[in-house]
Amino acid sequence: MNVALIGVGLAGGRIVESLLAYESDAGVDFVTDALAVNTARADLVELERLPEDRRVLVGQSRVKGHGVGADNELGAEVTREDIGDVLSVVDEFSTHEVDAFLVVAGLGGGTGSGGGPVVAEELGRVYAEPVFGLGVLPGRDEDGINTLNAARSLPTFVREVENLVLFDNDAWRQSGENVSTGYESLNRELARRLGVVLSAGEADGTGDDGAVETADVRRTLNAGGVSTIGYASVEVRRPKRGLVARLLGSTPDRDEGKVTNRVTSLVRRAALSRLTVPCDIESADRGVVVVAGPRAEVSRQGVERGREWVREETETTEIRGGDCPMNSESVAAAVLLSGLDDVPRLNELRRTAVEMRRDILEKDSVSGHRYRSLIRASGGDGDDGD
Ligand code: GDP
Repeated sequence: MNVALIGVGLAGGRIVESLLAYESDAGVDFVTDALAVNTARADLVELERLPEDRRVLVGQSRVKGHGVGADNELGAEVTREDIGDVLSVVDEFSTHEVDAFLVVAGLGGGTGSGGGPVVAEELGRVYAEPVFGLGVLPGRDEDGINTLNAARSLPTFVREVENLVLFDNDAWRQSGENVSTGYESLNRELARRLGVVLSAGEADGTGDDGAVETADVRRTLNAGGVSTIGYASVEVRRPKRGLVARLLGSTPDRDEGKVTNRVTSLVRRAALSRLTVPCDIESADRGVVVVAGPRAEVSRQGVERGREWVREETETTEIRGGDCPMNSESVAAAVLLSGLDDVPRLNELRRTAVEMRRDILEKDSVSGHRYRSLIRASGGDGDDGD
């Protein structure tokens, strides 16, 4: 699948770079072009992979490159005002090669939370290709304002994209890690999962019977709403070949039954693994199974059996899938489930946000006063970086 990536805000930019790192490490090619958008100059400077002309600073006349803190309304406003700067960079992309846009943003902050949906809306208006989103949910240990922002941004983001893949920082938080190295490993985990899904149709087996196609992923995401991804992988040791076999160029016999069983159980493990956003998998509307790995270690029968199992387990007939031959040292299975209607963390976020708003209105004689001070406490007065 050829995707154009647009990261909005700090989390958005970092995750885009993690996807670029996955792409180059795995030796696949699914990113047509990529871009980071931010209101804070320092956050753009911290990026390592994107070239200068793929970093766009918005809102400079209003916030002078210092960011919008946690004020996602301001984030949306300044992104809208400067959307022309974003679109003119996207114009330089080879958009005729693009199968879809993917807008990536953390929903708890200011720039990504407010600006992500604005960028998605504009891309949808200008381009015929589908616009998908990747939204990061804040952890429970973050400030109240992050919960409020996520609860406010989520319905807008879902409305502006054909599908929003979710990643819940809370479910992935690891104790004992400091925030920045913690995010780094979270972003790697996320990129691995999404990377396998986006590799569909891009590996050397494309066009073969049984190979997963770009259309399989697109149709799955067309279910709308929100999605989650499960993942499992196993290292495979390359079989040693004797000198004669090497000289003759013959491939070693493979144990068909063993390879089939390994692939089947890998798909099951993926569907039962910690999902990018935990949910009841039976609530999915559609799904796609992608198994990526060296050709000799991937069994079509194994993928088929795994797919059948996911179909039964989710009670969903629309489970697509196939393999994705890749020159790697491991076999990985990713299961993308879309159109979810039972995601406990979303219900909790909405409930908490409603309670917080009620609390604020009850306690403050001037409604909104405390809400504004919460924003200020998080550095959202437009003068501090975020
Ligand atoms: P913005 O720049 O104003 O959009 O805000 P940030 O992107 O810094 O933060 C928004 C939210 O994203 C935070 O509340 C965190 O939950 C989360 N976050 C920030 N950085 C990262 C990151 O690198 N990875 C992940 N997974 N989450 C992040």
